[in-house]
Amino acid sequence: MAPGTDRAAEALAQACRSVTMAEMRDASTAEETPEERKRRSRKILRRLDREYPAAECALRHRSAWELLVATILSAQCTDARVNKVTPDLFAAYPTVQDMALAPLESIEDLVRTTGFFRNKSKSLKGAAERIVSEYGGEVPSRMEQLLTLPGVARKTANVVTGTWFGKATGVVVDTHVQRISERLGLSAGKDPKKIERVLMDLLPRSRWVMYSHQIIHHGRAVCKARQPRCQACTLARLCPSAEV
Ligand code: SF4
Repeated sequence: MAPGTDRAAEALAQACRSVTMAEMRDASTAEETPEERKRRSRKILRRLDREYPAAECALRHRSAWELLVATILSAQCTDARVNKVTPDLFAAYPTVQDMALAPLESIEDLVRTTGFFRNKSKSLKGAAERIVSEYGGEVPSRMEQLLTLPGVARKTANVVTGTWFGKATGVVVDTHVQRISERLGLSAGKDPKKIERVLMDLLPRSRWVMYSHQIIHHGRAVCKARQPRCQACTLARLCPSAEV
């Protein structure tokens, strides 16, 4: 190899080493300060915006009530399955009042394939009854009101406030958000309430709703539970769990 070529090769190798070290600094969480984590999280948000600029809730709905029903049914079930079930359910019982008066067995038959159908049916009927008796037939928009409805915990309430009412009351922590936030080194543990608290502290409030939508899309498309596709991941440089 000619001396000039040697120097070029060494310069290239040096550049590669520098990039690799910079990338490792980007993704390292071992000694990351809270400020550094915040900065890294901002970069993650920017990349998510580029990759999923129009991410939105995958549960089909035409009203706050339909979104609430779909979200209750989505526990331990795929959104695709819920979207198959809800058209017949809403055709049979189009309004909150109809659901409040519906025979429990009939609701059970209609939502059976979403799993845990007995509990879910009780929640749907109970939530409808309470919305009719306490809230004049309108789904309430405040977190503390939503939490009084049977079958509604923070995740479901956050979906309704964020997606339908456009209010950021928290971060939706579902299985994708839990798994990927942990892989990204943004949160840890299995307790959704603690994870949500950490993410609320870390992310700007204006991003709470969109972060969940984008991460859920990312979980379905790239960062899958069993085999994350790190090679194709836009966040790989910023992810301490990247296998590339
Ligand atoms: S680099 Fe891999 S583990 Fe990290 S977010 Fe992307 S797919 Fe998931």
